Amino acid sequence: MTPLQRFIEQHPRLFVLTGAGCSTDSGIPDYRDRDGRWKRTPPVDYGVFMREASTRQRYWARSMIGWRRFGGALPNGTHHALVQLEQRGQVELLVTQNVDRLHQRAGSERVIDLHGRLDEVRCMGCDWRLPRHTFQQWLVQRNPDWAQLDAADAPDGDADLVGYDFARFDVPPCPLCDGIVKPDVVFFGEAVPRERVEAATVAWQAADAVLVVGSSLMVYSGYRFVDAAARAGKPVAAVSLGRTRADALLTLKVDESCHEALAFLREQFSTAAG
Ligand SMILES: [Zn+2]
Repeated sequence: MTPLQRFIEQHPRLFVLTGAGCSTDSGIPDYRDRDGRWKRTPPVDYGVFMREASTRQRYWARSMIGWRRFGGALPNGTHHALVQLEQRGQVELLVTQNVDRLHQRAGSERVIDLHGRLDEVRCMGCDWRLPRHTFQQWLVQRNPDWAQLDAADAPDGDADLVGYDFARFDVPPCPLCDGIVKPDVVFFGEAVPRERVEAATVAWQAADAVLVVGSSLMVYSGYRFVDAAARAGKPVAAVSLGRTRADALLTLKVDESCHEALAFLREQFSTAAG
């Protein structure tokens, strides 16, 4: 029995917090290196996105290219392992910092998308919503030349497009109010909606322990739950490659890939099923 296995056996109700490390095996790149530093330019800032048309053109041009692969990403073994944990009745709540919806696609039901979801867009003027998939078709129709381009994938459905004149990129406004359309994700500098924070707070308070999977916890919106739970005396285990912001708070640190560290959950399931 691994120390992580023992931790999970000892704590029947877990508050699970997941991050980018869960989705790297699905082909979605991580933001940060082993020391928690940015691997590339930090993601777009909310205030700048709302203020500058040029930032929105650049964002949507890159996103249009990046979406092709991001939109087709599939859940991997880590997502499936966490579904097993839920089916054992051990997940009080799974709070994810990912915006890819892969936990839900794998079959997890007790999930909160702390930072929203990239598969929907919404109007900042009238809150009208539409599937990202439909918005993608609008982008492609208006920008047929750009649709031919390919670029290295970046996190969150972004793509590395350098050296193009984004001023030519045509971003459709909201068809109802002409407002600014934005992916339904929490950008940097934007607050996480209060009801999500409250639901997560209720859940960690009800849980026996916290399990962090694939997050360096560098972003405060996720870190604060771990910090608060640790202060309240809840044990915290983290599966993450490299340093996390919460290292000093951890009861157990597993410096392995999520896929490897959680393999026992999938094995138990195949034994039970077979
Ligand atoms: Zn609108």
